[in-house]
Amino acid sequence: MDLLRSVRDQSDETEFYTPLPDGYKLGSTKYVAIFGTVMSGLGKGIFSSSLAKLLKDKALRVSPIKLEGYLNIDSGTLNPFRHGEVFVLDDGMETDMDLGTYERMLDQDLTRANFTTSGQIYSAVLSKERAGDFLGRDVQMIPHVTGEVKLRLRTLALQTKADVVFVEVGGTVGDIENAFFIEALRELRNEEGEQSVVFVALTYVLSPPALGEQKSKAAQLGIKRLMEFGIHPHIIACRAESPVTDKVRQKLSVYTNVPVKRVFSMHDLPSIYLLPEVMREEGLDSELVQLLNLGGRVNTAHELRAASRWQQFASKIGRTEPKVSIGITGKYTALRDSYASIIKALEHAGVASGSAVHVEWIDTTDISDANVAEALANVAGIIVPGGFGIRGTDGKIACIKHARLTKLPYLGICLGFQMAVVEYARNVCRLPGAGSTEIDPDCEPAVIDILPDQKKIEGLGGNMRLGGQDVLLSPGTLAAELFGGVKTIRRRFRHRYEVDPKHVEMLTSAGMIFSGRHPDHPIMQVLELPREVHPYFIGTQFHPELSSRPLRPCPFFVGLVTAAMRRQE
Ligand code: GLN
Repeated sequence: MDLLRSVRDQSDETEFYTPLPDGYKLGSTKYVAIFGTVMSGLGKGIFSSSLAKLLKDKALRVSPIKLEGYLNIDSGTLNPFRHGEVFVLDDGMETDMDLGTYERMLDQDLTRANFTTSGQIYSAVLSKERAGDFLGRDVQMIPHVTGEVKLRLRTLALQTKADVVFVEVGGTVGDIENAFFIEALRELRNEEGEQSVVFVALTYVLSPPALGEQKSKAAQLGIKRLMEFGIHPHIIACRAESPVTDKVRQKLSVYTNVPVKRVFSMHDLPSIYLLPEVMREEGLDSELVQLLNLGGRVNTAHELRAASRWQQFASKIGRTEPKVSIGITGKYTALRDSYASIIKALEHAGVASGSAVHVEWIDTTDISDANVAEALANVAGIIVPGGFGIRGTDGKIACIKHARLTKLPYLGICLGFQMAVVEYARNVCRLPGAGSTEIDPDCEPAVIDILPDQKKIEGLGGNMRLGGQDVLLSPGTLAAELFGGVKTIRRRFRHRYEVDPKHVEMLTSAGMIFSGRHPDHPIMQVLELPREVHPYFIGTQFHPELSSRPLRPCPFFVGLVTAAMRRQE
């Protein structure tokens, strides 16, 4: 097609610039693009991943991508207090928490190709400019920057052989940051063909308490804003507190020309895992299949099996008995999004163990040996999650000591693993000066330290250890038992500090067991206490919460919840 020349064919005589990856065939991949209107934080990722799941159930190959408006190259430097947790992929990419939603809903590992920021796009365009790729041309937002966006989407489609790519545009329509993403998607539909690209507008239906009824005006205006970009949605998803009334759905339909059957009520549900079923009942998946002309690729037998497995899981959500309280200590207790994956992992474990997990947030800033018993009086198990920096660490150590001495089930994650080592060195090995150099550079002995040489051997350049690594479990330990005797597991890491191997002998002879280690190097990855001493005391240097999936819950969390249930009995 003449209009779509590859980057190498560009000259300053044409305004068309759409670089295509080698081997890409226009119109063969389908795309669903999701935009947010009215306000951010509506759950675009939840909507998009649920719809993608329904297509995956039909045996279609799906691949999601999140387009972030911000200029950061990745999410690694973002404060979880502002942006929610940093989700780490197996390949080490630090991404937005929405990638976690996709991985869980789709039960599918993602890679850096599933995540793009404005910063990545600009940086790619600028490198090409320096390399002379645009020689003779002024480099412009349209067509060069939008061309780079389309190139990303098409490269992902080609790499993953996806039938359908789900494109989630971060932020809200009208933001300056994401305007070129929206423009690129408008162009994409023109190039790929009408039956290849479907647009979804996620919007918000207000219901002011003083009026006592739902109002659609803000939603209408939000969708109008999208139409100003030349994008006419095929599906409208309305977020709302309670089911959106027929009247409001009809009104939105009249104002937007979207048939009322495609104006979907996405009201609050007790769990996001109930959304796919609601969508299926409303026929949203069939609408999408029809719009994209995908009927021929659907496998109904596969769908029936997948749907029934999911229904079985979903039917166990929302139970209220028996209630198990798990305490999570943390600095970001004000913002639940900072611990999104842990909360989800607990939800999965609750379903698996037949209990209703209730999370208690415990701010450790003012906790000490003197008041820890009172602070933890109402929980049957405790998690000390990952974290960076000093604040609240003394309180965390007090909580760990209390958990160890009172046989309170304990799961320490990353920093929680490291603090369990420090607590053990101080109180069991009787080395009151023991510590981590992250918190006190002068501590002696530094049982937790930064060990650049360790990471060099893994090719990580002495910086943050990121992404999936193998963990060898010692036979006969609690960790090995949790995994049903599996010898090697793979889990995701995000840390700088670790146990200094020179103190391992001292810790183990005092009773601590390092039941998970790096297969080749002296890197401690799982710790536990003997079962004769404590029913469930485990720490992991990695982040087990990142790989927990609804139908494949993480054994470390199931173990914690089960132990907590036993304690309550
Ligand atoms: N701050 C610790 C480290 O860098 C722990 C990191 C974490 O908990 N994610 O090693």
